[in-house]
Amino acid sequence: MAEPLLKVEGLEAWYGESHVLHGVGIEVRQGEVVTLLGRNGAGKTTTLRAIMGLVGKRQGSVRFEGQELIGARSDRIARAGIALCPEERGIFASLDVTENLLLPPVVRAGGMDLEAIYTLFPNLKERARSPGTKLSGGEQQMLAIARILRTGARLLMLDEPTEGLAPVIVQQIGRTIREIKARGFTVLLVEQNFRFAQTVADRHYVMEHGQVVDAVSNEELAGSMDRLHAYLGV
Ligand code: ATP
Repeated sequence: MAEPLLKVEGLEAWYGESHVLHGVGIEVRQGEVVTLLGRNGAGKTTTLRAIMGLVGKRQGSVRFEGQELIGARSDRIARAGIALCPEERGIFASLDVTENLLLPPVVRAGGMDLEAIYTLFPNLKERARSPGTKLSGGEQQMLAIARILRTGARLLMLDEPTEGLAPVIVQQIGRTIREIKARGFTVLLVEQNFRFAQTVADRHYVMEHGQVVDAVSNEELAGSMDRLHAYLGV
């Protein structure tokens, strides 16, 4: 089989003296939606940050499209086609929706143009001139996802996109992720919302104490709950 889009092996990461990841291994194939599940502090966010080159020190291997990126800085990792949408979303309050959309630099060809993005996100089009401060949490999350579709990134890493959102908005985010997948994007998702993860993902990795401790396909997930209960606390 062809090499996966992203192949992480033996990934170690530190914040200062604090050794947080202990040999994480995950694979994400082109067009998949894959989640990292696990309790608070398991190392999910740090895994995304380490892939993106945003931790103090990292070791191991992060291969993207066959290219080794473990020694690369975050700007080169972004140019390779990986984007991180952090939990805090990073919407600029003083800029309107269109300005926020146009802010991240285009790193590769093949991204969506503004018109296509507004077709995919009609709610954002209606709010095109609204400042970031006037957007609801759900609209901010949509905007945070929408603007990385423009950049040409192939792998979108989303950190808890449903955090703090009402159920109806969570469903909208789910539809958006499925539409993104249908357009050929690949998604690596950190989730605490187990039910949501089940509605969008092809496969799941379970993390604990800075390691991957289990992996299941979405079909296997419901039947594996007894085994996963201790890790997930659900
Ligand atoms: P959460 O949902 O709570 O963010 P998580 O699984 O994403 O959980 P991480 O945020 O990756 O977990 O945290 C993993 C470990 O790293 C935790 O023990 C946390 O306290 C520690 N940690 C996270 N950020 C830092 C930091 N900036 N400096 C030092 N330690 C950190």
